[in-house]
Amino acid sequence: MLTRRALPLLALPALARAQPRPVAVASFSIVGDLARQVAGEAWEVRVLAGPDVDPHNFQPRPSDAQALRGADVAIRNGAGFDGWFDRLLRGAGFRGRLVTATEGLPLLRAAPGGHSHGPQDPHGWQDARLAMGYVRAVAAALGTDATAILTRLEALHGWIGAQFAPIPPARRVALTSHDAFAHYGAAYGVRFLAPQGVSTAAEPSAQQVAALIRQVRAERITAVFLENMANPATLRRLAQEAGVTVRGRLYADALSAPDGPAATYEAMMRHNTTLLAAAMRDGA
Ligand code: ZN
Repeated sequence: MLTRRALPLLALPALARAQPRPVAVASFSIVGDLARQVAGEAWEVRVLAGPDVDPHNFQPRPSDAQALRGADVAIRNGAGFDGWFDRLLRGAGFRGRLVTATEGLPLLRAAPGGHSHGPQDPHGWQDARLAMGYVRAVAAALGTDATAILTRLEALHGWIGAQFAPIPPARRVALTSHDAFAHYGAAYGVRFLAPQGVSTAAEPSAQQVAALIRQVRAERITAVFLENMANPATLRRLAQEAGVTVRGRLYADALSAPDGPAATYEAMMRHNTTLLAAAMRDGA
């Protein structure tokens, strides 16, 4: 009985490869990786804004429109994050199913006074519990079983919290290039400061930079980080004037290349958390 039921399952991967698989196209690398984890072998997942590419201001190529034209499913972050993808969908005459990964999720309001493209902070994946919402939305559209990845994300959420638990709340402060970590901060009890707003296109004023320098000195903030795609010049200058060392690079809105430290969503969250917690412990 067992053998008879196992045989068709064993034969399935070979059959699936013999026929063209349905195609899902994701707007950027982080949503793309979550989609790949959900899709398994059943779907081909393509990503438009790839590793280390700023997905806020991505310039699509003609081949990206081509990819969408024949796709069965398109996956966007939504909440004003990847507006270029919406325009591309319209231009490409996309006729498949559109998934908005953040739909119905309890996103935070965008920081008051910060430069943003909408009323909500779109960086929902920075909270692993919200990333589970992304996964559920994608799995519903692809018709696949997401149990394994959901279990891993639940464990990831617990692991991140445990890394910060021994650090006194007053030391859980970090300075980064742009305002991408509000969801992470709310979920894991970390306060983030940033000279750039929610969008990487915004440039801070001289007064904003001066105020941040005073704050870094007054609070003796040691967790100071660049990001993989925001312009590093402002933050380097700010760190220098405040007399603090830049502790490395966080991955905010894009994964690293496959041979880098943040090749998947889970690797990215672990990498960022390890760097942040180590820098805060050193300053305690
Ligand atoms: Zn961002």
